[in-house]
Amino acid sequence: MKHDAIIVGGGFAGLAAATYLSRARRSVQVVDTGRPRNRFAGASHGFLGQDGSDPQAILAAAREQLLAYPTAQIADAEARTARIHEDGFSVLLANGEEIVAHKLILAFGLRDELPEIPGLQERWGKTVLHCPYCHGIEFSDRELGVLYRTPMSVHQALLIAEWGPTTLYLNGADIDGDSQAALSARGVSVEAARVDGLIGSDKALSAIQLADGGVRTIAALYISPQSCLASPLAEQLGVEIDESPVGPVIRTDTDKMTSISGLYAAGDIARAPHSVSWAVADGVTAGTSAHRALVFG
Ligand SMILES: Cc1cc2nc3c(=O)[nH]c(=O)nc-3n(C[C@H](O)[C@H](O)[C@H](O)COP(=O)(O)OP(=O)(O)OC[C@H]3O[C@@H](n4cnc5c(N)ncnc54)[C@H](O)[C@@H]3O)c2cc1C
Repeated sequence: MKHDAIIVGGGFAGLAAATYLSRARRSVQVVDTGRPRNRFAGASHGFLGQDGSDPQAILAAAREQLLAYPTAQIADAEARTARIHEDGFSVLLANGEEIVAHKLILAFGLRDELPEIPGLQERWGKTVLHCPYCHGIEFSDRELGVLYRTPMSVHQALLIAEWGPTTLYLNGADIDGDSQAALSARGVSVEAARVDGLIGSDKALSAIQLADGGVRTIAALYISPQSCLASPLAEQLGVEIDESPVGPVIRTDTDKMTSISGLYAAGDIARAPHSVSWAVADGVTAGTSAHRALVFG
């Protein structure tokens, strides 16, 4: 069976695209491995009407509502490879099944690579964070830290100071005089020593252990994650990809179509910055654009 559209990734962008295509009575095959980027967070913030909800619960409800449409299907499977044909696309799944469609929407999200600091990885999404709009007000006026990873970390520290007293942990890196001056003017402290580990009960954070023996009180640590595309499909297909300070961005036009006709990209892989709301909006754009292309060619 040839579907109208295949959507690789059933996270926020993919399910939004699938919902709009299904409401246009088009056959949609979503392929999803069920590992949304924010699965480490117990609560998702800022998405209208769902502020503080469990992100997995939002997605479970979206899946259930999508499957109420007779033309929608979800395969819990990994898309391994994809190919372009004269009149559409084929996607090979890890189970060996090959599916074909007129349009293909990539919505497989990003994967975050975290620094190797003891106590950090297990606190990701709880007390080790990257976005203060998503997770910031919960730590208001408590001691906050920013771990230096790139020059963007200076900007991040200047922003985080909006939520509470902030220290930039250089972890052995150097920053220039202008950055020092900007941080000082904003009241951000700077700690030069290397970071040895994070301390706290379970996922809570109470202190940061420094290599020089110092221990600093801290309630949350912000980092700039180094993100990469969660799947190699975009590179395989040969779409144009740009680099941004927060990771790779698949180049799309205002319809979320990539550099290849009929191939769309939505969500974190096709924009910066990132959020659930933006991913949903992109999914709606990609879904409705793909539908109009099916109708009008
Ligand atoms: C720790 C953390 C906390 C966050 N908190 C918030 C918050 O509070 N509020 C907010 O608005 N945003 C938050 N975000 C950002 C938010 O998670 C992303 O913006 C959002 O998940 C992007 O949606 P997406 O659909 O593009 O990708 P995702 O939600 O990551 O979904 C991608 C889907 O594609 C699947 N997939 C990947 N490869 C394949 C493949 N080859 N085959 C099939 N399926 C595949 C994945 O398993 C996943 O289900 C947070 C991010 C992180 C890292």
